Amino acid sequence: MGKTYVVANQKGGVGKTTTCVNTAVCLAEAGATVLVVDIDPQCNATHGLGLLEDYTATSYSLFCGDITASSTIIQTNIQNLYLIPSTPDLAGTAVELPGRDRREFILDQALRSVSANFDYIFIDCPPSLGLLTLNALVAADKVIVPVQCEYYALEGLGQLMQTVETIRSGLNPRLQVAGLLMTMYDPRTRLSPQVVEEVRSHFPELTYRTVIPRNVRLSEAPSFGMPISHYDPTCAGSDAYFDLATEVVERE
Ligand code: ATP
Ligand code: MG
Repeated sequence: MGKTYVVANQKGGVGKTTTCVNTAVCLAEAGATVLVVDIDPQCNATHGLGLLEDYTATSYSLFCGDITASSTIIQTNIQNLYLIPSTPDLAGTAVELPGRDRREFILDQALRSVSANFDYIFIDCPPSLGLLTLNALVAADKVIVPVQCEYYALEGLGQLMQTVETIRSGLNPRLQVAGLLMTMYDPRTRLSPQVVEEVRSHFPELTYRTVIPRNVRLSEAPSFGMPISHYDPTCAGSDAYFDLATEVVERE
């Protein structure tokens, strides 16, 4: 049985998708068979991997319950890396899911039939703690929380940790925080080191040793539909995500 990681933070633009895609790719390049599941109606993980078609079998189909997970999986351009793509109609779940029976378990149930085929599953979440993210947390073994090196970094983290705790004590006892990942670190500012220091002092064990630098190549790569290891394998952002993938495996 593979490990299922969810990359979550209800704050927007903190590096969830960048982390999800690039960590998954690093593990696939190391020889693991990896599935990325895009459950964000923004479809950033899908598009960032260069997959731009109008898919009909998507994560939305899974939430509608009318299809098996295996028929939604597509191959990416990267060896060993597979994807369940997203489409903007996934936004419809906000009104469709609340009335459903066992609505927090839909993704978990769907992924069960395929999880044995993968060493890792990485789920990319939208920036909210709504039912989509809740489904991901119920389906996951571990959650990676990207934290942007900026002033309001700690805001909302308490609520997220509380949500994880609530899910652990009820809907999904397996769930653990894999780690907090400091992202967009800029050594030229005084703020970045301060924020890292502050997050480490609150979560000394949980904060990853690896810090992801602010790196323009990381922000350019998705527009070329490439992970950083293909777009610019020698840049600082590529090195950092390789280090993170190593650390993720070490912590298992
Ligand atoms: P959302 O909440 O909208 O889903 P997100 O948390 O998934 O956002 P990303 O999409 O990964 O965040 O990153 C937000 C923006 O910052 C993107 O344009 C991305 O390319 C850029 N970005 C992410 N990480 C870095 C980095 N380390 N250095 C520079 N730019 C980055
Ligand atoms: Mg995203």
